[in-house]
Amino acid sequence: MTDVLAVTDHRRGELRDVSYEIITAGRQLADETGGDLHLAVVSGTVDDFAEKVNREGVDAIHTVDYGEEFNHDVYTQAITQLYDDLAPQYVLAPNSVNGLDYAPAVATELDLPIVTDTIGLETDGDTLIATREMYGGKVETTNELEGPAVATIRSAEWPQAEGTGDASIETFDATIDEDAIGSTVNGFEEVGGGDVDISEADVLVSVGRGIEEEDNLPLIEELADALGATVSSSRPIVDNGWLPKNRQVGQSGKVVTPDVYIAIGISGAVQHVAGMKGSDTIVAINTDPNAPIMDIADYAIVDDLFDVVPALTEEFQ
Ligand SMILES: Cc1cc2nc3c(=O)[nH]c(=O)nc-3n(C[C@H](O)[C@H](O)[C@H](O)COP(=O)(O)OP(=O)(O)OC[C@H]3O[C@@H](n4cnc5c(N)ncnc54)[C@H](O)[C@@H]3O)c2cc1C
Repeated sequence: MTDVLAVTDHRRGELRDVSYEIITAGRQLADETGGDLHLAVVSGTVDDFAEKVNREGVDAIHTVDYGEEFNHDVYTQAITQLYDDLAPQYVLAPNSVNGLDYAPAVATELDLPIVTDTIGLETDGDTLIATREMYGGKVETTNELEGPAVATIRSAEWPQAEGTGDASIETFDATIDEDAIGSTVNGFEEVGGGDVDISEADVLVSVGRGIEEEDNLPLIEELADALGATVSSSRPIVDNGWLPKNRQVGQSGKVVTPDVYIAIGISGAVQHVAGMKGSDTIVAINTDPNAPIMDIADYAIVDDLFDVVPALTEEFQ
């Protein structure tokens, strides 16, 4: 047992970025174990998805053409059967809503240990060493699992695999027991805030408690408009009901990896940083030169946001 089986993720007909990140995580483990990297593509337009995830480092892609949307029972049955067929050392799944739904069930079915929300994975002989965060991101722990195991990976922790691969693409004839399908997807409802997905934005203008009150938010929206950017925020802004939940960046919000992240009046608490530290360029606007956000900022403007933001907006308009 040396191979790795990594499961791709899609929603509403689109592959999610983590599908490319899991290739990087899986390839690294496969290199360490001296095995092959297999990808599973389950449900949806599997042939199209398989072409897209056929990137460098993938040895084989297995498609299960059953149903359009994610279904807990279909995924659990398909992945369990693929495991029985391929006998990999490790099964990797995204730590997404979908992954967290089926991965524990797969681990239970296969009687394997599982470690969730990993931010680092390596092997030492027959041991999987998984890094996770604890206490709201204040400490990192390593967890050692002996033998075959299931792990879910946090999005945006591994770079996306690139390049065109030459993996074999095969249909896997999973035997889906329809009597065992206990759930169906009847529709898809966005959490408030329309279709905005901040995790897909190239430029984020992010606002924190320094904005003081809801009436000041247009200042931030004007800057975002001038930059063609999307507005996101720290948690207090969402807790106050000034922006919808899908705009929150952080540990209990979304993980984002834009080209540019402009943190305005945000202190940089660990729970916030957990969601944006993968941004390419971080700009901080804060009156406090000692705010933790300054430790990770590429550019820092130590000044009052009520002076800086209108000046920037004017400059970019
Ligand atoms: C379990 C748990 C999960 C959490 N999850 C998240 C999460 O997902 N996302 C998240 O963001 N937080 C999260 N938090 C909350 C987190 O701990 C912080 O409380 C929060 O991030 C602080 O938000 P803030 O930086 O906007 O506010 P503050 O910490 O109050 O910082 C405001 C900043 O604005 C600056 N400022 C004030 N006035 C001005 C001005 N006029 N001009 C310029 N700068 C100014 C201040 O110097 C300060 O640095 C979580 C907490 C817990 C316990």
